[in-house]
Amino acid sequence: MNQQMPNWLKQRAELTPDRLAVKTTSEQVTFHQLHRRVQFRAQQLSLSGVTKGEHVAILMKNSIDMIETIHAVMSIGAVAIMLNLRLTRQELMWQILDGEVVHVICNGELKEKISNGKNSLHIIINEELPQENANVELYELDFQANQVATIMYTSGTTGHPKGVMHTFGNHWSSAVGSALNLGLLPTDRWLLAVPLFHISGLSIVMRSVIYGMGIVLHERFNATKMNQAIMNDKVTIVSVVTTMLQQMLDQLDKQRYPDSFRCMLAGGGPVPKSVLEECQNRKIPVYQTFGMTETASQIVTLTPEHSMTKLGSAGKPLFSCQVKIVKDGKECIANEEGEILVKGPNITKGYWKRDDETKKALQDGWLHTGDQGYIDDQGFLYVLDRRSDLIISGGENVYPAEIESILLSHPKIKDAGVVGVEDKRWGQSPYAFVVLHEQLMKTDIIEFCQNQLATYKVPKDITFLDELPRNAANKLLRRALKERVNKGRLQ
Ligand code: ATP
Ligand code: MG
Repeated sequence: MNQQMPNWLKQRAELTPDRLAVKTTSEQVTFHQLHRRVQFRAQQLSLSGVTKGEHVAILMKNSIDMIETIHAVMSIGAVAIMLNLRLTRQELMWQILDGEVVHVICNGELKEKISNGKNSLHIIINEELPQENANVELYELDFQANQVATIMYTSGTTGHPKGVMHTFGNHWSSAVGSALNLGLLPTDRWLLAVPLFHISGLSIVMRSVIYGMGIVLHERFNATKMNQAIMNDKVTIVSVVTTMLQQMLDQLDKQRYPDSFRCMLAGGGPVPKSVLEECQNRKIPVYQTFGMTETASQIVTLTPEHSMTKLGSAGKPLFSCQVKIVKDGKECIANEEGEILVKGPNITKGYWKRDDETKKALQDGWLHTGDQGYIDDQGFLYVLDRRSDLIISGGENVYPAEIESILLSHPKIKDAGVVGVEDKRWGQSPYAFVVLHEQLMKTDIIEFCQNQLATYKVPKDITFLDELPRNAANKLLRRALKERVNKGRLQ
């Protein structure tokens, strides 16, 4: 793609100035107001030294200020590097160095996480931006489709995070692909309580200006407040991950969402079958979606008409995208398991400064996702697990996610993680780490699994832990569990 587009927010403010852009618990702004604020902020940033082409990291809490900052950096033509505020100082400094960041814009309270005194990094405190009206040129550059708009690091679940470059074309295609699937109503409002520094959150900001759609913005996840927003704030769509969905269901109790509520978009990881079934029973429309940082959010998503019938599937590719399953270099037939490959205009052009990794992941335009799955005979994708976590026991493929999903359906089990351990007889066998709500015997858990899983999938043994290792994106770190096994730390 090699085309030019007008600055999205400027265009949006001209087209539908009076529509709601963002609403928080304390204020709301229209697109006209947001545009004015972003123009001012772009001037403030430019006064602070930010110039076109520079890498500008954003370390902020979900807020209108943060949305303004993202738009302002894009308007200046600088590249926004989105930093996860749950990272440790060491992890943040690694990304800042790797990403060749020149300026960091952060909330004052987060300053301590990055200022180490030694480096020449320019830190701009959001709350201390110059308040005078600058006499500098108004920055509202047009957007080039192949120009890098943002860099976002992967969650670092399988190894070191990699900086994914997103072009304006990637964000555009992602937003359009989602609208062609979910449809778009003038009354749509997207509830955003996932982090803005993840692709799940950032993609909602892009959709908002491209569609002219309002965002109901929450600083952080709170199940009660989210349910209240769906009930009272005219929310029609919400993005969730499994833990959010579970807590919202618990908190909802017997209440029902209004008929105008259209969709829970559930992604980022597998959703246990028991949770999907509960939603189905309660007539809550959940659309599972598969996507990665590399695909600028969704790439395969269930369609509205299949959300209740194709439980457990991530759906079909978005309109301009393709998906296939490959094993040993050959495309699989229906229902055959292999690696998921995806293609489409929303896919990154590569990892920042990682040519080797880029070449490995992107071949002939197909992204090798590192995830295992299959496509059924009707073309629906089922995501099984990460290839690197696959357990091969007696020649059978065993997916930790399936066992974890069964364990999590037990009312006394709070969290579960499964990895493969060496087994003299079977090569490998599954081993479970479990966090309990209430006391439960190992033998009871094994019996519970025996009733629902083939024998070779039943965990060989169980270790109880107080909590499971998770990364800053709250994803289970199975590699840390494997390390525990390798070091023999099982009790
Ligand atoms: P890293 O690439 O650094 O190891 P990560 O892959 O966890 O981290 P993300 O880009 O945040 O970083 O996550 C994408 C991954 O999330 C996918 O590759 C897949 O493993 C998982 N995922 C996303 N959607 C689903 C889904 N519907 N079902 C199962 N897994 C999913
Ligand atoms: Mg990944």
